[in-house]
Amino acid sequence: MKMPNISLLEWQKRFGAERSCANTLAKVLWPQGFQCPQCGYQRYNFIATRRFYQCSQCRHQVSVTGDPLFHATKTPLVKWFWAIYSTASNKGGVSAP
Ligand SMILES: [Zn+2]
Repeated sequence: MKMPNISLLEWQKRFGAERSCANTLAKVLWPQGFQCPQCGYQRYNFIATRRFYQCSQCRHQVSVTGDPLFHATKTPLVKWFWAIYSTASNKGGVSAP
């Protein structure tokens, strides 16, 4: 994932909520937009509490946290993104606010 060069404030605005974190993950997973792996449908509902995308047509569920990095964790995405931010900051990848 390429880190955006943004300030702390901007980061919190963008990634301060589970949904926005999930949206960001979705963009990584589906750069061309969501597509159901089962039926190919391109509309979905995001289930924030369970952290998955559900196909609007066949109800197939795709977890955004299926990625090994996020596998088997109950840690909120906000915290994950915060960890990513901190790491990037230390490497000088993100400008200080
Ligand atoms: Zn589907």
